[in-house]
Amino acid sequence: MLDINKIRADFPILKREVNGKPLVYFDNAATSQTPQVVIDAIVAYYSNYNANIHRGVHTLSQEATDAYEIGRKTVQAHFNAKHSHEIILTAGTTHAINIVATGFTSLLNKGDEIIVSALEHHSNIVPWQMLCERTGAVLKVIPMNEEGSLLMDVYETLLSEKTKLVFVNHVSNALGTVNPIEFIIEKAHEVGAAVLIDGAQATPHIKPDVQALNVDFYVASAHKLCGPTGVGLLYGKEKWLNKLPPYQGGGEMIDQVTFEKTTYAGLPHKFEAGTPNICGGIAFGVALDYMNSIGFENIASYEKELLDYATNELKQIEGLRIYGEAAEKTAVISFNVGQIHPYDIGTIVDKLGVAVRTGHHCAQPIMDFYKIPGTVRASFAFYNTKEEIDIMISAVKRAVMMLS
Ligand SMILES: *Cc1c(COP(=O)(O)O)cnc(C)c1O
Repeated sequence: MLDINKIRADFPILKREVNGKPLVYFDNAATSQTPQVVIDAIVAYYSNYNANIHRGVHTLSQEATDAYEIGRKTVQAHFNAKHSHEIILTAGTTHAINIVATGFTSLLNKGDEIIVSALEHHSNIVPWQMLCERTGAVLKVIPMNEEGSLLMDVYETLLSEKTKLVFVNHVSNALGTVNPIEFIIEKAHEVGAAVLIDGAQATPHIKPDVQALNVDFYVASAHKLCGPTGVGLLYGKEKWLNKLPPYQGGGEMIDQVTFEKTTYAGLPHKFEAGTPNICGGIAFGVALDYMNSIGFENIASYEKELLDYATNELKQIEGLRIYGEAAEKTAVISFNVGQIHPYDIGTIVDKLGVAVRTGHHCAQPIMDFYKIPGTVRASFAFYNTKEEIDIMISAVKRAVMMLS
């Protein structure tokens, strides 16, 4: 059992008020809040050992390098990567996806096929469309059904010798659906395709094991995992990272530079050109340690309680429809009430201190599927409570009364 009061005390922001009301933060799927240990790690870095890494012999530079590499090792251990050099620290999920999508330009031919899913975030659609434009490859889409699940029988018919890459998110940020990635990976490998899993939305709730999954690439962002913005990871199997060319040229990613020819550094430095987000890499490790100290099984079972409670309470509201009711989903609820615009509900509940997200959630194809402009999305974290859900429910009821 989680000691929620103790956990809440770890997050200074949860003490603040919004519009004179206690903050109820239900926008965790967009970014999570930051515990004091992570804030302290950031302050300690800038107060005590701020220095550039890898290139210095002086003490501060060595301390910063050691701490940054501890961050990488913590990420490696958390995701159970075989080697620490298979962990590329990136600016986040979007950056990580672009490294892979750009890298595949030289590995694809006209007529090759790439499969994505109907549940993708824009950051897992657009880079592949750009890759198709560059290479003449063709994008295929795994369709979804009304409850927000992907159609696996159709997926199997899309796979063929022409399939070179498959890209699916582990959990949909708009609907919370947990996708059957084990099956997706296994089937893709049967035709020799590589698989990238976008874990941005899964990693706050699920601890993935990249070796057990046998996945080729797995990406995520620290800021959805109690860490800071501007840092994330690209996990890649060593053989794939060696095959891909560097994404950016610059310092730290080279071995030898002359004007005739430059040779690249080994992994992971080949993909980490320039000065990285040093403090972010350090804080990412601290955030993972913090979440592991709470325990992902505890987090998942508590969040499931919150999800079930909120789902039942919301369904009591007349005219309310929930989008995304897959059997397996994380603590995300997307909904609309009658014809009321989601933005109007979001604005009124904010006046009552409740932070929810409204709009298309960077997943316009899903909104098109349901023929709606967007939804109100409430997403919960392990530091939220049933009392906060009660506050949201009465705020939504009040909004509906005012707007209908
Ligand atoms: C948040 C999110 C992204 C984008 O992450 P950034 O940190 O903005 O790069 C991509 N995919 C999914 C599923 C997300 O939830």
